[in-house]
Amino acid sequence: MQLQQILIKELLILSKARLAKTKHRLICARCGKWERVVETNEVKNILICPYCKARQITATYYSDYDLPKIIQKNMHGKKLSSDEKHKFNRAWKVSSLIENFGKTAITVCLDMVLEQILQQEYCEIWWMKNIYSNKSMKLKGNML
Ligand SMILES: [Zn+2]
Repeated sequence: MQLQQILIKELLILSKARLAKTKHRLICARCGKWERVVETNEVKNILICPYCKARQITATYYSDYDLPKIIQKNMHGKKLSSDEKHKFNRAWKVSSLIENFGKTAITVCLDMVLEQILQQEYCEIWWMKNIYSNKSMKLKGNML
């Protein structure tokens, strides 16, 4: 494992207890049909969409009602606005994070993990600014 991955894992473990009660909206990033609001400690390790069998499950803040619509819009071949494109790309990146780290990835504030990864790999800090609500941004502030 690379050092960076070890650090991310450590961060995830440290934040685990604190975020057990955080609510997330899980959405299938492929079809956008399946969605479910769960508390962190209810998340199962292997997530598969019951509709399209995809393992690309993404997570967002629980009151995000737009993302499933954006995913479905894209699936039906409709043109996305640049804002929607950002959200869609972000959802895919989050889903690959969840695919790699499973439950552990959802256990932590995803924006914190993403920040680590993005700063080092993509240098797209701007990109994760809207990932979670202001409420969990404050939560993140408390953790650091
Ligand atoms: Zn699906």
